[in-house]
Amino acid sequence: MRPFQFHSPQSASEAVSQHKQNKKTHYLGGGTNLLDLMKEDVERPDHIVEVADLPFKEIQKNASGGLSLGAMVSNTHTANNPLVKENYPLLSMAILAAATEQIRNMATNGGNLLQRTRCPYFYETSMPCNKREPGTGCGALNGINSKHAIFGWSESCVATHPSDMSVALAALDATVTVQNQEGKTRTIPFSEFHRLPGDQPEKDTNLNTGELITAIDLPKSAYPKHYYYLKVRERSSYAFALVSAAVGLQIENNTITKAGLALGKVAHKPWKLDKVEKFLIGKKATKETFEAAADLALQDAKPLDQNEYKIELAKKTLVRALLQATSRS
Ligand SMILES: Cc1cc2nc3c(=O)[nH]c(=O)nc-3n(C[C@H](O)[C@H](O)[C@H](O)COP(=O)(O)OP(=O)(O)OC[C@H]3O[C@@H](n4cnc5c(N)ncnc54)[C@H](O)[C@@H]3O)c2cc1C
Ligand code: SF4
Repeated sequence: MRPFQFHSPQSASEAVSQHKQNKKTHYLGGGTNLLDLMKEDVERPDHIVEVADLPFKEIQKNASGGLSLGAMVSNTHTANNPLVKENYPLLSMAILAAATEQIRNMATNGGNLLQRTRCPYFYETSMPCNKREPGTGCGALNGINSKHAIFGWSESCVATHPSDMSVALAALDATVTVQNQEGKTRTIPFSEFHRLPGDQPEKDTNLNTGELITAIDLPKSAYPKHYYYLKVRERSSYAFALVSAAVGLQIENNTITKAGLALGKVAHKPWKLDKVEKFLIGKKATKETFEAAADLALQDAKPLDQNEYKIELAKKTLVRALLQATSRS
């Protein structure tokens, strides 16, 4: 690991102004991703500003009747919080599908959103990778790309976003609050938080330099009865998804009145299914409806050489998640 300066501020304004002091500054949450990347020489910050102990460690009701999750609350606390379990069980389920208990104990909510892709070329510094080193090319585009994107990719990058929690947050229409280097705050809808690669795959999000995530807000209680997070992976634990589906349904008299849906590991960002959500409203909650919804969800998918299987897998994952959500009450 290379040498770096280290600060451990006590307030958000101190943190953002310390970030300004050096161009190659990184905030440090739980460190479960950043430190690994530093050890692999993928990330090379000169300056670390530790934020894990800043006072954004509460989960509390927000002004709109929903819930505000402090950015520095651990994934474990978030998943097990009674208000989250009761009102947003989909989020709890998605978080608990990720990593291991030890990692979730360390991982913060803010850091989870900003964890970087698991594309193997990104980790291997001897290989070309536009995300790690802009302008060097994309090793995966014509290389080993069986786990890569089927939506929204560009010739510059075909990577997928790895976070499970973020797939549920997309389905739940969360927002992210950040503080900038001038001390101002802004709120970003979750669908605009992560970005597609375009010709700047080194940028994972629409955050500006030095913006600190302080909270994630959830709208008023969503899908407490009919929900499911289905994560399909090569092993049943300690593995990232091949494909995942986060599903929330509101059902009255077997008719769907509201839906929140997103797929994971199919694109550079959590893939929100707006069109499918609208399609489901007013339909009966049946297998036939869900199969039609899955066809619609995947109709614009563009597979790479080695990942055509993901289209069928994603359809089946979505149908099964919808059936599981329906049978819950
Ligand atoms: C073996 C292993 C298995 C895993 N499996 C899964 C899995 O199955 N599913 C899954 O979703 N995840 C998985 N993870 C990833 C894990 O969930 C993330 O590493 C973790 O959530 C990152 O949170 P952190 O607080 O440790 O972030 P850090 O590593 O501290 O930071 C990550 C990034 O976020 C930035 N950052 C942190 N906090 C803030 C903030 N408040 N504002 C602005 N920037 C910030 C940092 O600068 C850094 O760039 C796994 C990790 C490991 C090591
Ligand atoms: S897919 Fe993206 S992360 Fe992977 S090698 Fe290509 S540019 Fe790098």
